Amino acid sequence: MEILNKVIEVEPVKEMLDYQGKYGEYGGAFVPPVLEEQLEKLSVCFDEIVTTEEFGKEYIAILKDYVGRPSPLYYAANLSKYVGSRIYLKREDLNHTGSHKINNTIGQILLAKKMGATEIIAETGAGQHGVATATACALLGVPCKIFMGAVDIQRQALNVKRMEMLGAEVIACDNGTQTLKDAVDAALGYYIEHPDSYYLLGSHVGPHPYPKIVGYFQSVIGSEAKQQILEKEGRLPDGIFACLGGGSNAIGSFSAFLADDEVAIYGAEGGGEDRNGNTAATLTYGEPIVFQGTYSYCLTDEKGDPTFSKSVAAGLDYPGISPQHAYLKDTKRCDYHSVTDQEALDAFRLLSRLEGIIPAIESSHAVALAVKMLKNKGQLAIVTISGRGDKDVERDF
Ligand SMILES: *Cc1c(COP(=O)(O)O)cnc(C)c1O
Repeated sequence: MEILNKVIEVEPVKEMLDYQGKYGEYGGAFVPPVLEEQLEKLSVCFDEIVTTEEFGKEYIAILKDYVGRPSPLYYAANLSKYVGSRIYLKREDLNHTGSHKINNTIGQILLAKKMGATEIIAETGAGQHGVATATACALLGVPCKIFMGAVDIQRQALNVKRMEMLGAEVIACDNGTQTLKDAVDAALGYYIEHPDSYYLLGSHVGPHPYPKIVGYFQSVIGSEAKQQILEKEGRLPDGIFACLGGGSNAIGSFSAFLADDEVAIYGAEGGGEDRNGNTAATLTYGEPIVFQGTYSYCLTDEKGDPTFSKSVAAGLDYPGISPQHAYLKDTKRCDYHSVTDQEALDAFRLLSRLEGIIPAIESSHAVALAVKMLKNKGQLAIVTISGRGDKDVERDF
C-alpha cells in the first residue's frame, strides 16, 4: 500500500465546495429581503476567498500549530475487545478548547477578516460555540459580541466567564423564553442593523451559504481520518459513526467517505427519554419544514410548527437539522438512529472506564450507537469523539 507511512495532510474535502445551496429538495435560503444581499455577498466572497492559496495556507497553519491537527486516530483496544469489533476513535476532544467547533470558528473568522468585517457576532445556547468563537476572535484580533439568553447565562456561568476572560462581550437577551431562540433573534436583529459585522453560525444549519461554509471547514475531520485509517489498516472502514446536533461534526466526519459505497455511515441523534415530545431526534421523529432559514427536517407540534427539543446533551438539543443530512437520510446513504439519554450516559461511563477517555455527553451518543451496531460483528469502524467531557462530569449519574 503506497499510502503507508505517509504524512497526514490537514485539508478540507474540495467536493464540499461544489454545493450551491441545495441538497436534493433540502436547503436554500429562506430569509427576509434585508438579509438576502448580505448572504449573497457572503456566498460570493466565500467561494472566491477559500480557494486562494493564501487563505488555504493561513487556515491550515492555524489548524496545525494552534488547534493541534491532525487529531489522532486512536485504536481503542479495550473498547474493541469489549465490543467484538475493531474500533478507532477520531479524537476531536484533543483539539484546543476541547471540541470540533474550533475548526469552524477559525475558518469563518479568517474569512470575515478578509471580507473586511469589523466585528464578529454569534449566538450560543450552552456556551460551547460562544467559547470557540471568543477563542478564535482573541487569536485573530477581532472584536466579538456573543448573544445569549438570560436564563442560559445563569445556567452556563463557567462558559460565560471563559468568554469574558477571552475578551468577548456577552449580551443577555431577556425577551421570550430567554434561551437560544431569543439569542438568535437578537443576533439577527443586530446583524441586519450592522452590515459590517460578520454573523458566525456554529453548526451545519441555517440558510445558504452557511451549511456549505461549515461543512467545508469541518471536513478536515474525515479527510484526516480517511488517510489515517488507510495508513494504519491499509483499507477503508466498514462503518463510521458520529453524533448529530445540527450536524456539523457528523458531516465533517462523513464527507470524505460519501462516495465510498463500501463504508456504512451512521448518525446518532439525541433521543431524550422517549418519542413523545421528549426527544432531540429530528431526523427520526421530525418532518420537513422551513425553519431558521433552511428547508429540512424539524421537530414539530400537532399544528406542524417548530417545537422544542429535549436531550441530556446541550449540544444535541436543537429541533432543526442540517439540510444535507436530511438528503442523506432520504437517499439512504446514511443511517440515522435515536439514542436515549440513558444509553448515552452508559456509554459515557463505559468509555471513561475502558479507555481513560471522558467523552462529551454529545459524543457518547455516537459511542452508544457504535457499541450497539458493532456488537460481535468483527468489523472495522471509526467513531468520532466530537469533544471532551469535563463539562459533563458534575452531572448526577
Ligand atoms: C456542539 C457540539 C455537538 C453538536 O453539534 P454538531 O454541529 O452536530 O456537531 C456535538 N459534540 C460536541 C462536543 C459539541 O460541542
